[in-house]
Amino acid sequence: MIKDALLSMISLDYDHMIMAAAGHQAEAILEETRARYKGGYVLAVEGNPPLNEGGMFCIDGGKPFVEKLTSMAEESMAIVAWGTCASWGCVQAAKPNPTGAVPIDKVITNRPIIKVPGCPPIAEVMCGLVTFITTFGKLPKLDHQGRPSMFYSERIHDKCYRRSHFDASQFVEEWDDTNARKGYCLYKLGCKGPTTYNACSALRWNGGVSFPIQSGHGCLGCSEDGFWDKGSFYDRLTTIKQFGIEQNADEIGMAAAGVVGLAVAAHAAVTAAKRLRHRPDRPAHKGKPS
Ligand code: SF4
Repeated sequence: MIKDALLSMISLDYDHMIMAAAGHQAEAILEETRARYKGGYVLAVEGNPPLNEGGMFCIDGGKPFVEKLTSMAEESMAIVAWGTCASWGCVQAAKPNPTGAVPIDKVITNRPIIKVPGCPPIAEVMCGLVTFITTFGKLPKLDHQGRPSMFYSERIHDKCYRRSHFDASQFVEEWDDTNARKGYCLYKLGCKGPTTYNACSALRWNGGVSFPIQSGHGCLGCSEDGFWDKGSFYDRLTTIKQFGIEQNADEIGMAAAGVVGLAVAAHAAVTAAKRLRHRPDRPAHKGKPS
């Protein structure tokens, strides 16, 4: 699909990773594209511009990347911010952010920006977005954060194949414990699936082969704004109220244990009553047989 999109659907005029040209020839193609397709091209950006020291932390083609970005954005129809770096800032914008790295929308404010976060974004999502724009000639519907709704309207948690274990309060408690081998939910080990919007659990990765949770590791929330500065990847979310009765996983676990305890106690009481009823020194029951 990606091959078809690249070779048959779009004209990819500039990409320094895969284009044959290099150096001045490559930069000339960029200028040519800007002049020839004024207002008619989509600028897809990876990474983000560092603004401190006049942008000198990222020099591209002999000048600060931020200059190249603003120049190409000026004549574009729309901008696609590929990945969490371009969409939110990501690790190079982590505190204390010495280079002053900022997401694209902090620099470009007068063009439509489609955010496709993920570290990295899913190939099928990228391809799906390009296909949509070329097929329908318009930009897709975006959510309030500027992400295509068709790919970012559901949480990892909503389509996670371990969700039934979450709902049944069956959690992995420690790495490689018995519950981990049973494929139980990774919530207690820090899985951010309940607060992360992306299509990983629906599309998976590498042609649908797998995704982090399927490999036994919780979701890091890499497509969410600020995920890199929100503490350890293994800290549990403490604020989700997913159980319908305002309880967290521990409380649910305790409640379940309490119910089991009650059931055991009730069973023991019934058994004791039956035993008592059948004690030889107790008078035989005169009523209806039970
Ligand atoms: S908490 Fe994580 S592992 Fe558990 S069901 Fe949700 S997304 Fe899946």
